Amino acid sequence: MDYTNEMKLEIDSRSCNEGLARVAVAAFATQLNPTLEEVADIKTAVSEAITNCIVHAYEKETDKIRIDCRTKDREIYITVTDYGKGIEDVQKAMEPLFTTRPDQDRAGMGFAFMEAFMDELQVQSQPGKGTVVQMRRKIGNRSSFYD
Ligand code: ATP
Ligand code: MG
Repeated sequence: MDYTNEMKLEIDSRSCNEGLARVAVAAFATQLNPTLEEVADIKTAVSEAITNCIVHAYEKETDKIRIDCRTKDREIYITVTDYGKGIEDVQKAMEPLFTTRPDQDRAGMGFAFMEAFMDELQVQSQPGKGTVVQMRRKIGNRSSFYD
């Protein structure tokens, strides 16, 4: 049978919890024996997804963010869900450098980083209802930058 393992985490959308979520997912990922670089990639992607929930989905209010992690064989699946304002045009939002908050010094690179550091990124959103960001990353099978 395939080896699977699961973790579910629900946090308030406070910036102090962003580090908690990042470290919790990284700790969960260690069961796959990742390299330091793989852990760093996963942390970056999670950090970007959580930050988006805090600064865009809920803006000034505080509400729940769910982080679901699952391993299957050598892969980790991470889903970040919010129940906030949602995204009108997901395709446009995912373009590098696109941001709706240039006033907040946002670079519009969050989704681009998630896409670059993970093997797969899927974003589903309903305006007024929330956003689901699904990511998948294979551990131990990426050729190094120097190969
Ligand atoms: P950066 O991540 O570089 O600080 P950014 O957050 O604006 O800038 P992305 O993370 O790529 O860039 O997100 C692009 C845009 O998509 C955001 O400006 C925002 O309008 C929208 N967005 C992203 N995530 C969410 C979310 N969870 N809820 C609502 N809107 C979102
Ligand atoms: Mg962002």
